[in-house]
Amino acid sequence: MSAAIIDGKAFAAELRARIAVHAAAFERAAGRKAGLAVVLVGSDPASEVYVRSKGKQTIEAGMASFEHKLPADATEDALLDLVARLNADPAVDGILVQLPLPAHMDETKVIAAIDPDKDVDGFTVVNAGRLATGLDGFVPCTPLGCLMLLKDRLGDLAGKTAVVIGRSNIVGKPMAQLLLKESCTVTIAHSRTADLARVVRGADIVVAAVGRPEMVKGDWLKPGACVIDVGINRLPPADGAAKGRLVGDVDFASASQVAGAITPVPGGVGPMTIAVLLRNALVAAHRNAGVALAAGAI
Ligand code: NAD
Repeated sequence: MSAAIIDGKAFAAELRARIAVHAAAFERAAGRKAGLAVVLVGSDPASEVYVRSKGKQTIEAGMASFEHKLPADATEDALLDLVARLNADPAVDGILVQLPLPAHMDETKVIAAIDPDKDVDGFTVVNAGRLATGLDGFVPCTPLGCLMLLKDRLGDLAGKTAVVIGRSNIVGKPMAQLLLKESCTVTIAHSRTADLARVVRGADIVVAAVGRPEMVKGDWLKPGACVIDVGINRLPPADGAAKGRLVGDVDFASASQVAGAITPVPGGVGPMTIAVLLRNALVAAHRNAGVALAAGAI
């Protein structure tokens, strides 16, 4: 069998186009643009690329982008002051603090300082609790993007067996909560799981969020399974090349022979993350300004 390729790049582009339509309608109704603030501390090159790309896509969607950069040696208090100002700023609907923070800062404390109703990354304990208890809140962007791809491919997920590999707070755990909410039977696998291949083989849906290049092999999969590969890993450069290839946590060559559908890396889950961030910021703007947004519109 040769798997269908789930085109996250195209899906994300359609989502951004829908967001732009609703962002324009929001501006007409509220008399201001929806606003997303992104805070970067230090100059980690990967983080700088993400932040630039977030700012660019926010503006392209017709929303206001507020970028705040603090030096790597800024104090934690300076960052907490900035977050407090953004919490109080009516032009800012969503706040994202780019992680990782420098080692002298306490990430948990900084995330906890973000107003949960502006926490468009869904990282605060309040939003994690809302997700776990089935209340409305902000859901972390990457797992929500994965869920959108799964529902687009499979329709109703109720009764399906799902294995999420990875138990991080930003991907694995919220992914499992989302699948549970869709009435899947969910297993969370992790670094201490015994016989991971056997666990994966029982699943109609496999979400891999591990950070280990090409770990999940085709012969681990149930034939026809839907495979979502969250991993982004750069292989060492081949002879003479400046950069190594980007690969996921799934061995695409063997998995695509067995799966029913699979996301490629790059071009699968990756592009969904920022698109969902814009979605969450626009939802926050509607709530903050008291402007109605039809359920499921974006
Ligand atoms: P993490 O390091 O916080 O968590 C990794 C998880 O994998 C852990 O829970 C660990 O228990 C599990 N794990 C480690 N080794 C394992 C093994 N041998 N078998 C089974 N489980 C194992 O990572 P994360 O932040 O959740 O990210 C996971 C991957 O997803 C990374 O490659 C990251 O780059 C990628 N990622 C991509 C996006 C995106 O936008 N596409 C967003 C976030 C993360």
